[in-house]
Amino acid sequence: MTTRAADGDTPLWLFADQLGPRVHGGEHAHRPIVLIEAESALRRRRSHRQKLHLILSGMRHAAAELGDRAALIRAGTYTEALRAYGRPVLVHEPTSAAAEAFVHRLHRDGLVADVLPAATFALPRNEFRQWAGDRTRFRMEDFYREQRRRFDVLMEDGAPVGGRWNFDTDNREPPPKGRATLDVPPPYRPDEDDIDAQVRRDLDAMGLDTVGVDGPRLFAVTPAEADKALRQFVADRLPTFGRYEDAMLSGDWAMAHSLLSVPLNLGVLHPLDAVHAAEQAYRDGAAPLAAAEGFIRQILGWREYMWQLYWHFGPDYSERNHLHADTPLPDWWTGLDAEAVDAECLRQALAGVRDRGWAHHIQRLMVLGSHALQRGYNPRELSDWFASSFVDGYAWVMPTNVIGMSQYADGGKVATKPYTSGGAYISKMSDHCGHCRFDPKKRLGPDACPFTAGYWAFTHRHADVLAANMRTARAVSSMKRLSDLDAVLEQEHRRETF
Ligand code: FAD
Repeated sequence: MTTRAADGDTPLWLFADQLGPRVHGGEHAHRPIVLIEAESALRRRRSHRQKLHLILSGMRHAAAELGDRAALIRAGTYTEALRAYGRPVLVHEPTSAAAEAFVHRLHRDGLVADVLPAATFALPRNEFRQWAGDRTRFRMEDFYREQRRRFDVLMEDGAPVGGRWNFDTDNREPPPKGRATLDVPPPYRPDEDDIDAQVRRDLDAMGLDTVGVDGPRLFAVTPAEADKALRQFVADRLPTFGRYEDAMLSGDWAMAHSLLSVPLNLGVLHPLDAVHAAEQAYRDGAAPLAAAEGFIRQILGWREYMWQLYWHFGPDYSERNHLHADTPLPDWWTGLDAEAVDAECLRQALAGVRDRGWAHHIQRLMVLGSHALQRGYNPRELSDWFASSFVDGYAWVMPTNVIGMSQYADGGKVATKPYTSGGAYISKMSDHCGHCRFDPKKRLGPDACPFTAGYWAFTHRHADVLAANMRTARAVSSMKRLSDLDAVLEQEHRRETF
């Protein structure tokens, strides 16, 4: 789009996930800034209370830091706010297809002067389009290697540092035995201030229909906080990252994860800043290559890949339902009623969502996602649930993670096989099973593990799809050898408690 109506003084409108200096600094540093708290956006869906807090806190902190440069407008809708503001504004491409269509409508109506390229990801969308070309097969690994070359990260003389592209994938360990926590320094925790206190009062007064509990703010929402969170993570926790990425411990909700998805998704931390900090730690000898490379792959690889594929696959992708999964999400799930759940792994993951709006990656994929896949929850409903119940949930990040990676509803465009397992995997990678009323080794009987039995029920239901895939065909042959399969299927058909 050309900058017809825009000039050097045209104000810049920031959405709540575009709050960082890479969006409003640099060539835009002299523009007036417009921030809009639209009640329609807050009420659109039933969101986690702490997510709404983070969004309002982020916007109000941005307005306070930008001082006289910023106008924070409270209105019923974005359109009302822009009309009241009275001057056409610039805006960067928003992060969802619906918002993108909306800003283009506003452009036609003259409320938006121009739409600028997105500024919160490393790779411009047009460069991805060139890379994608007419490719039909997408592999994250190909994209990741291109990203490493493109941004010259962990490269030496055109080759990956250390002679390999990946270091930690074959190196994921179970949690250390006999320990309740990983024993790494705790993650950065911001100090709440008067802005947070006011946000809390305002949210109480608005009487919104939210999920989850309120709680202290745990995540960075300003560029300065994000910088502190990043520095603290790199210094204290990065060296342990990767090794225990797939491990779960009952006493350690954060493990060695970075907790940076919130500031990254709010746009207050740029992905390349996080990547460069990790690379520097490796080059300074402060973090092993495996840990730095593993973290960089998550951000420069997975995160960027998910963002780009969201646009590349388009809106129909979210409607994919390859496995014809149509079970509605149960009330205990949508209401985050962790106490209604007996399986310790599922109870802890759901309690994490209730108490913090956050659970770590392996809980999302191999506990929550795996349970949903086994029980045939509708992928679209599940995707909406993740988007609104997680503090880092946004429209762009859900389709490929939930529809693709976690639910295989795209028939294998993102993941090479459905990600699910029996209780043995959870037992190996966590300390949950030791204090669970179910036995991960049992598939039949009152203490049969719902993941173990659920795995066989899932394998049976989708035997045709799984048998046709080299990576899952063995599961079908093993299932056929189970002498008690009919009884297991009957039990799972009738199962009421998890
Ligand atoms: P770390 O483990 O410290 O990883 C570092 C960073 O890598 C993260 O902050 C994140 O920005 C990035 N990252 C790693 N994997 C992914 C990925 N697959 N997609 C996008 N970014 C990635 N991420 C979200 O940002 N929002 C979500 O709503 C979300 N929902 C998910 C749902 C499912 C079913 C699955 C399987 C994954 C989901 N993820 C989501 C990806 C990932 O689980 C979270 O980014 C991560 O758990 C956030 O915690 P962290 O910042 O401590 O991450």
